[in-house]
Amino acid sequence: MPRICPDCNAAMNQKSFFGELLDTCAHCAGIFFDEGEICRIKEKGGVRAFDELDTMVQPEAGYVPPTEHPIRQCPACKVTMRRFRYMYTSPVFLDCCDGCGGVWVENGELLQMRECLQAAKDGQPQSAASEQIAAKVEALNALERARANRARIAASMIAHHRE
Ligand SMILES: [Zn+2]
Ligand SMILES: [Zn+2]
Repeated sequence: MPRICPDCNAAMNQKSFFGELLDTCAHCAGIFFDEGEICRIKEKGGVRAFDELDTMVQPEAGYVPPTEHPIRQCPACKVTMRRFRYMYTSPVFLDCCDGCGGVWVENGELLQMRECLQAAKDGQPQSAASEQIAAKVEALNALERARANRARIAASMIAHHRE
C-alpha cells in the first residue's frame, strides 16, 4: 500500500536514490525519509546529493506551498509528527515521527539543509572570526567618521571666523 502525503492526501511515489527507497509526492515534492535515510544519503553522496534530490523531485506546476507550518501525520504510522530543528541549531524546521523515526522534508528544505551542512563543514569558528573582523572594521570606520566630523566642524568654525 502506498504511503499518503500528509499535505496533499495523495498516494506517494517510491524513488530509489543512492540505494535508498524514498517516498516522494508528485504534487508538493515533499519527501518522507525513513529513519537513517538522510544520514546514509549524506554519507554516500555528500552534500551535493541534497541538490540532486531537490532537482529530481519537483512540485507540480502551480503548486502553492502552505503559508503556515501544517500539522502533519506520519505517512508510515499516521501519528502526529513533531517539529524539530535540523542539526539542533539550524533555522530549518522539519517534521519527525517519534513512532518510526521518519522525517518529512518539504520542497526546498533540502537546499536549506545543504546550506546548513556546508556552513558546518566550512567551520563556524571561521565565520565567527570574520564577524569579529567585520565588527573591528565597523568600529574603525565609526572612529574615522567621528574624526572627519570633528574636522568638518573645526573647518566650518574657521570658515565662520574668516567671514
Ligand atoms: Zn504532497
Ligand atoms: Zn512514523
